[in-house]
Amino acid sequence: MVPKPPARETSSGFIYVPPYRVQGFSIAGEGTVVQVPELDVCFDIGTCPRMVLPSPLVALSHGHMDHVGGLPYWLSQRHFQKLGPGRIACHQRLEGPLRRMLESWVDLERQKTPFEIVGLEDGEEVQLRPNLMLRAIEVSHTSPSMGWVVIERRSKLREEFLDLPQDRLVELKSRGTPITRTLEIPLVAYTGDTEMGPFLLRPEFCEAKIVLSECTFFDPDHRGRAKVGRHLHVEDVAQLVRSWKAEAVIIVHLSRRSPLGMIRERLDAIDGGAHKDRLLVLMDHRANRRRLEAQVAAEAPAGDDAAEARAATEVQAGEEE
Ligand SMILES: [Zn+2]
Ligand SMILES: [Zn+2]
Repeated sequence: MVPKPPARETSSGFIYVPPYRVQGFSIAGEGTVVQVPELDVCFDIGTCPRMVLPSPLVALSHGHMDHVGGLPYWLSQRHFQKLGPGRIACHQRLEGPLRRMLESWVDLERQKTPFEIVGLEDGEEVQLRPNLMLRAIEVSHTSPSMGWVVIERRSKLREEFLDLPQDRLVELKSRGTPITRTLEIPLVAYTGDTEMGPFLLRPEFCEAKIVLSECTFFDPDHRGRAKVGRHLHVEDVAQLVRSWKAEAVIIVHLSRRSPLGMIRERLDAIDGGAHKDRLLVLMDHRANRRRLEAQVAAEAPAGDDAAEARAATEVQAGEEE
């Protein structure tokens, strides 16, 4: 008898929250890698799909294999494809062990792959672009763990100077008067693996436009398991979404054991469905495809049936379940 070919690999999740694409793969224990190409950042790298190679920086939440497994491969492929050395941002306590792991590859491969690694403490930042910072927020898991927030800094004219003419402003500035103040806009926050805690209610999380949140347990009987593994349970997420103002809360790190239908039901039940439309699941391919089709249709000029049909087939072509 002819043997069956292996099962198709699970494809990547994709959610568009204009102007950001959130794409990647995330299943608890197997692998989590979530990229936001517009912000040049990739959160964790449990596996290394091709699409994350252009990301110049990986922000690691912690050292569990399902979050770092793809790291040496990413660095090596970036080097091989001449994309420049990869930068790694991690918890300060992970820097030494990661360095040792990466240096041992030099002996294994008999070649040196360049990398840059920055260990951070709670509240410290690395720069992504001139106005774009990545801030570390320490969370609590079974090993040292960081959450991350990408923050845009905008400089705004101070209230008291709003009505002044340009030449007056130039004059004030030349005399050294600070005429602007800096606004911080949290764009995307990532919880990493964590249990519930006050750090998840810091302003960076509450104000972020998009929150990527782990949620590993959904069964009401699994509260104890969540506590032991120091993970979020859907009842924690229910509390958090009341404080998070994000237009999209994207759930990652689902367990393969929880059926998607049950997950969706439990998310939809939070506050009688009040957060239903902004609670998205990265690996719910079907729901995300429908959402994307609606986004494409909304973009097409009214009555342009051909464009809508085209969009639907394009979306389907890019999708493998
Ligand atoms: Zn994990
Ligand atoms: Zn973990």
